[in-house]
Amino acid sequence: MSRCLLVSNRLPVAFNSKLNTFVQSSGGLVSAIKGLDSKKVGFDIEWIGILTDEIRTEKLIELNENPIGNIPCHPVIVPKKIYEDYYNLYCNNVLWPLFHYERNLVRHKTAGWEAYVKVNRIIADAIVERVKTDDVLWVHDFQLLLVPGFVKEKLPGLRIGFFLHIPFPSSEIFRELPEREEILRSLLSCDQIGFHDLSYLNHFRSSIHRILGHLSESEKMWGVYPISIDSEHFNILASENETMNFIERYQQNKKMMKWILGVDRLDYIKGLIQKLKAFKTFLREHPEEREKVQFVQVVIPSRTDVPEYQLLRDKIEQLVSNINGEFGSPAWMPIYYLYHSVTEFELSALYQLSEVLFIGSKRDGMNLVSLEYVMSKKSSHPGVILMSEFAGAHSTLSYAMSINPWDTNDTANKIKEALTHPEVKKRNEMEAMKKFLQGYTSSDWAKAILRDLVWKPKKEEISHLLPEDGKFSWMRELKGKRILFFCDLDGTLAPISPHPKDVRLPGQTIELLHAISDKNNCEFVVISGRDKEFMEEQFIDHDFNIPVAACHGAYVYLPKDHNWQGLIPNDPTNWKEKVMEIFNLYTKRTPESFIEDKGHAITWHYRNSPQDFADFLASKLFFELEETLSNQPVKVNRGKKVIEVKSMHANKGYFVQNWIQNLKSRPDIVVALGDDTTDEDMFVSIQDRKDIRPYCIKVGNEKSHAHYFIKDQGSVNIFLRNFLVSL
Ligand code: UDP
Repeated sequence: MSRCLLVSNRLPVAFNSKLNTFVQSSGGLVSAIKGLDSKKVGFDIEWIGILTDEIRTEKLIELNENPIGNIPCHPVIVPKKIYEDYYNLYCNNVLWPLFHYERNLVRHKTAGWEAYVKVNRIIADAIVERVKTDDVLWVHDFQLLLVPGFVKEKLPGLRIGFFLHIPFPSSEIFRELPEREEILRSLLSCDQIGFHDLSYLNHFRSSIHRILGHLSESEKMWGVYPISIDSEHFNILASENETMNFIERYQQNKKMMKWILGVDRLDYIKGLIQKLKAFKTFLREHPEEREKVQFVQVVIPSRTDVPEYQLLRDKIEQLVSNINGEFGSPAWMPIYYLYHSVTEFELSALYQLSEVLFIGSKRDGMNLVSLEYVMSKKSSHPGVILMSEFAGAHSTLSYAMSINPWDTNDTANKIKEALTHPEVKKRNEMEAMKKFLQGYTSSDWAKAILRDLVWKPKKEEISHLLPEDGKFSWMRELKGKRILFFCDLDGTLAPISPHPKDVRLPGQTIELLHAISDKNNCEFVVISGRDKEFMEEQFIDHDFNIPVAACHGAYVYLPKDHNWQGLIPNDPTNWKEKVMEIFNLYTKRTPESFIEDKGHAITWHYRNSPQDFADFLASKLFFELEETLSNQPVKVNRGKKVIEVKSMHANKGYFVQNWIQNLKSRPDIVVALGDDTTDEDMFVSIQDRKDIRPYCIKVGNEKSHAHYFIKDQGSVNIFLRNFLVSL
């Protein structure tokens, strides 16, 4: 079995100085990986992570000899001072708040960035030393954003995947980061990148476009893989003796009271203040619920030495005591506040006993607590989840009740709604979500990522620039062959002009085109985004004996017919695949939704789905499609309970495919030349054909699907002249 080196900031073990030994640590990634079945995933997983140099060498030997759990751990030793600067000054003071939209908490210091670079470099070097042929590397999270770039510098052939566990912020936020370019370039060197949510992927994509200014060739390697949990573990845990003991004990105290449960690490992203305010409003607006409801809020201590977190704790505790003081009585305490960790048995008991789970995160990469809640529930006591729209898990849990944590009044009303949600509905909805999580576990998550990482083809590495003499080596093959040549106009045959109307074919180019069109073994077709009138002025009025396509291939003029023909596409290619991929993602998450393929349009229907959830996802989907498809010849429409993507009947790739399809006999060689993103469709459509030899040439040095490049428009004629003499 191949080996996967999983790299994260922390190892799944931590040194406990009181016990003087290593113990297994907790956290989302650890529990996701711990539950992995390496046979099911298809890889032997080994873990690389940081330990600081305060740990004594003999202890490290102990760790190597007695790995905890079934995963071998390889610590990388980092000096403590450097680690602290990396972790506190850059990870926690810059990346964490910025990626969670808390810009006013960002504290940028040069020393932090320097330490971040150093630690990422130390880890990359350790990987390079340890890695073997056939290994794959799977790098995790925001602490290690530079590792892929550093490793690729030394091992360009190593397959590297990256997974981001926190949100990727809007490009409007991300572009404020001084080190944005270094980070994006490192990520772009990955063979695959994964996110929890499609919106994070889209933000990443627009950051690339905005900051680096180009479309990335590796876009096809980015994916959405929401993390899951070890579902079976939580299912079993729910019936363990220790869990049942907790349930019995708490039940005596709870009696007929309804519990609203919150379980959050102490962090400003979790929206604890907003939650408490909403609960306060709920008590004020719904006096009939007082003494019938209790809010049990578990706060897990975190980053206790950081002043912002101490301040947040003070604020929370003040608000808890305000609410208890204002509404409580000797017979009833509105909020049970626990500031400590709980065992997994106690947690399972709390999940099972509570009627409502309240997730109020302002931003949250995923949120595993909500998934654990679902898997801990038994059908005898179902619950309702109040779920912030700003948590990644919102797109996974179809029947959770949406809240906007910033809207205190509405959240207060939703608490009331959740508490009075009909029992049968609760049961059915919880069962549906449970079924989903039983079929989609942390193993499925990892398996999907690793499978994509190894199955997808390696990036194309055969790119060539036109040599000084204007001859590509493949031009030697042209003599005597049947050649079909598709050529763009603006920026390719004619230079770009500040006023598009002023564009004219240069005299030399006109001569070359006449000469090429006289050759019997080459059919030359010009294809442009321009309209028919413009193309007539340029070509038809000058008696060129070549076919000319306008509007990206929606119309074509054949010299023998002296006439324009409208082309009605009936099998659009590129965009459909992309739309299907996105639609499938949403269909999986939205019960009762389905896709209809109408040929020129694809429609996503959700009229029978849970309304709030589906409406929310539909809005999200609409904006995501608009952003994702902005370069595609399609229109995205939102109708009554449908989202539809329609072809705009014009796509150069589609035109080229159709042209080749309709030829009486296949050419031997197809050449495509262009400078624009619309020409990429043309390149993609011929590049993978097995029945012809394709040569795609990009004018300019931007990333492209083409394998050959001409440095600028000014060099096109030298290429055409050499092409002509090679025929
Ligand atoms: N958890 C914990 N200790 C506790 C209570 C909960 O470790 O006392 C676990 C919980 O079971 C969950 C994780 O902490 O797996 C929290 O993950 P989540 O994604 O909800 O939030 P994060 O803390 O990662 O932001």
